[in-house]
Amino acid sequence: MIIAPRGTHDILPSESYRWHLIEDKIKEICLEFGYKEIRTPMFESTELFERGVGDTTDVVQKEMYTFLDKGGRSVTLRPEGTSPIVRSFVESSLYAQPQPTKLYYLYPCFRYEKPQAGRLREFHQFGVEVMGADTAAVDAEVISLAMQVFSRLNVTGIELNINSIGCPKCRAAYNEKLKAFFKPHLGELCETCRQRYEKNPLRILDCKVKSCKAIYNHAPVLLDNICEDCAAHFEQLKRYLEVMEIPYQIDATIVRGLDYYTKTVFEIISKNKGSEGTICGGGRYNGLIAEIGGPEMTGVGFAMGLERLLLVLESLDLIPENLERPDIFIANVGDQADLFVQKLVYGLRNAGISAERDYLSRSVKAQMKYANKTGAQFSAVIGDDDIAAKSASVKNMQTGETDNVPFDHLAEFIKTNTMTR
Ligand code: ATP
Ligand code: MG
Repeated sequence: MIIAPRGTHDILPSESYRWHLIEDKIKEICLEFGYKEIRTPMFESTELFERGVGDTTDVVQKEMYTFLDKGGRSVTLRPEGTSPIVRSFVESSLYAQPQPTKLYYLYPCFRYEKPQAGRLREFHQFGVEVMGADTAAVDAEVISLAMQVFSRLNVTGIELNINSIGCPKCRAAYNEKLKAFFKPHLGELCETCRQRYEKNPLRILDCKVKSCKAIYNHAPVLLDNICEDCAAHFEQLKRYLEVMEIPYQIDATIVRGLDYYTKTVFEIISKNKGSEGTICGGGRYNGLIAEIGGPEMTGVGFAMGLERLLLVLESLDLIPENLERPDIFIANVGDQADLFVQKLVYGLRNAGISAERDYLSRSVKAQMKYANKTGAQFSAVIGDDDIAAKSASVKNMQTGETDNVPFDHLAEFIKTNTMTR
């Protein structure tokens, strides 16, 4: 038997409605906030992520699905959404349009990781990106949009943590401080962090290795070392969050796993039992657009893991039952009725009714048993007499009540009587 690749999962027909549920909410919110959807290719030139995400990050060093195509080009399944969108923003000259550019995406990402609960090799992200605006009001808007997803899905036990990691200017001085701090501990750091020490010491602060953590827990704090500009931007962000009454905490340990962040970074974590951890992470990336060959423009965004969001909804018992079911099941008796029902069902579907019939030449009893299993709200059994009378007895499967309904009025009858419409 061939099984799905490790770290991937099928979204089965019994589960897909959960995805529709969150995706529909997300699209609704994005429309209200004025974000338009963007879709980019599943794979990109490897160089895009090396430059965009940064070659000292875990994502680039350990987690990318990179391969040579038949033309010998190195391509990578996208491990994250921001670099491709920035690439498209530059390539399609979206920067030449009135700014800001407010985009959202819903798509799969790929990372070669050790699979576990909420950690897959193919996973799905919802994310937004705003390019071409520098004010903290945009950072606050982006955060408020993420928080809106949780509140609209009635999720509780969520915490917003914010931080500022400064700009290249204040970070240069801080990096020197960090290096001085780590120097006596170099021998105790992991191999990867020893390389990071030279190239990008800030990255050490995101290392997941326990012995590295034990050391960097005592490192000088970046938030205490940011420049006046960055500090003012951070203060402004706090004010915007406060006027929107969005509760937050400052967590000076957040550095994020991708190199492109500047100033604002944030994470939204779940404290709910069974789904603890980071659901959403984001921040400002002021250098990325220029890094990828575009103009000196700024950006801010976040990415939310949809599998993790679903875990939260499950742990809080917030997923309603599946309401995808036929409005009506129409059984048939005899050959003439078989043809008639085919036409009737087709006509109802054309009129926007979810109608179902038997396809296995079952007995009437077996057809009705099947009708029950489909969860259909109404049913009808059609024979020669009904065809002659141009009407049928329609049964409400829940109450058992029946009504004689002319075929001409069947669609209207169902529309006015179904509960899910
Ligand atoms: P973590 O620290 O858990 O590895 P990350 O910092 O690598 O997360 P980001 O790059 O910020 O994650 O991605 C944004 C969101 O995407 C995460 O908060 C998480 O919800 C989700 N995510 C990231 N990696 C995975 C994965 N391998 N499987 C499922 N969801 C993921
Ligand atoms: Mg990760």
